[in-house]
Amino acid sequence: MQQNGTTHRNGIAANGAARITSTETPVLNTQQALTDDEKIRLITFHFSRIMETLGLDLADDSLCETPARVAKMFVTEAFRGLNESNRPDITLFENGYGYSEMLIERNITVYSYCEHHFVPIIGKAHVAYYAGSKVIGLSKINRIVQHYCKRPQVQERLTEDIAGALKEALHVEDVAVVIDAAHLCVASRGVGDVNSTTLTAHYGGRFRNEETRKEFLSLLKG
Ligand SMILES: [Zn+2]
Repeated sequence: MQQNGTTHRNGIAANGAARITSTETPVLNTQQALTDDEKIRLITFHFSRIMETLGLDLADDSLCETPARVAKMFVTEAFRGLNESNRPDITLFENGYGYSEMLIERNITVYSYCEHHFVPIIGKAHVAYYAGSKVIGLSKINRIVQHYCKRPQVQERLTEDIAGALKEALHVEDVAVVIDAAHLCVASRGVGDVNSTTLTAHYGGRFRNEETRKEFLSLLKG
């Protein structure tokens, strides 16, 4: 795609300046050095410049608070998942019932932002796992999904992030994640397709088995 005259493909700029995109969200080491208040102050300043560059009059009643409002939204809501201290605490319980079938949580809201255009990615995540000796509090699955959504993302990485976090928390490989989402960068601009959605999946451990995967996918439809 063309952006400011530079062709980007898989995170590599045509001039060779960018590094190949990593499996982790690429963040600067200095990122955590700023407090939330400092980030809000800096983003307010820079967003004001963006608005002025677009020709907007920041003296106007309706616009004057927008830079501070956007900055606060970025830091405390939309991109709060960039701050490691916002990572949810995961509570595990003993699998006292000896539950040994797959557990599926369906239709978890995905509200993230495309890291290429900074516009929303909206959809659903479906997560499944086989418990070992521990089970996870159900709402913690939603919180893990939410944490990784609250970053500039690509759907592929989001899927892997969620699967990786669940595997780490549960100490099992038997985790599946499916995300079905609409990208507003596809719907509201560019090709302008409002109907297409993107499906991504991660199948770990027992979910690599064809029968298990089929069972999971058929239960999703039920
Ligand atoms: Zn995009």
